[in-house]
Amino acid sequence: MLTTVTAGPYTVRGVSVGGVYTSIAIPELGLLFDAGISPRSFGGLDTILLSHGHADHIGALPALLGIRGLHGKSRPPRVVMPAEIVDDLTGALALLTKLQRWPLEIEAIGMNPGDEFALRPDLHVRAIRTFHPVPSLAYLLIRRVAKLRPELHGLAGPEIAARRRAGDDITEIDERIEIAYATDTLVSVLDHSPELLRARVLIMECTFLDDRKSLEAARAGCHIHLDEVIERAERFENEHIVMMHTSQLYRTDEVAAILDRRVPPGLRKRIIPFVPADGHWPG
Ligand SMILES: [Zn+2]
Ligand SMILES: [Zn+2]
Repeated sequence: MLTTVTAGPYTVRGVSVGGVYTSIAIPELGLLFDAGISPRSFGGLDTILLSHGHADHIGALPALLGIRGLHGKSRPPRVVMPAEIVDDLTGALALLTKLQRWPLEIEAIGMNPGDEFALRPDLHVRAIRTFHPVPSLAYLLIRRVAKLRPELHGLAGPEIAARRRAGDDITEIDERIEIAYATDTLVSVLDHSPELLRARVLIMECTFLDDRKSLEAARAGCHIHLDEVIERAERFENEHIVMMHTSQLYRTDEVAAILDRRVPPGLRKRIIPFVPADGHWPG
């Protein structure tokens, strides 16, 4: 039932059907974006980033927490979410805990737009404001590594070591946006936060692909229409764009053909439609 695609060095695995369910794992980073379904393997992931509180994005969180024990995980997962929903979500899990008589615990991390949190020493998540009827966020995964200052590149090792001993600052921090995840938002998120367009891999919703849904109707629901992506075709600098949250208005086997027909080739070749290979929406 899971779709798996490769985007640069990353595996992108999960399910995403607009309004039905979205859950996308990056196994190399041990993290999950949204919790719309709870396949067995996702129970072993230690970090979950929730875009917002709509059921198609959080509905399977209790089930995922239940599966964790079967993976031998004794600590609760870190769950990153918009700060405004922390109390409601932890309150809901407390009620479910009472119902189950079994603890459904998370380490809740509430974020506001612009906040950063270190997932690992070299990997940070930064929250971005998205535009949806409920509190919602996009996330940037930023890799920070210490690099030798460029002016020292030609020097021999012992010379560099001597400068370090002398107290010189020989490194600088290199920041690279590895993955961006933006779903359930007006397209204006790309204009307000253009760093999304520079992420190495952009995982982005494109719920509607042609005039089966008008641009106005897509905007009224706070979702992105392919017309709006095409308008901005020149601005995407991403190596790969994983296009997800596609509406079931479209058959999975026509998604690629619609993109081929409508999207300028320079952009089209970087888009990976996140739809099942077997031609059927899961479930
Ligand atoms: Zn959604
Ligand atoms: Zn939503």
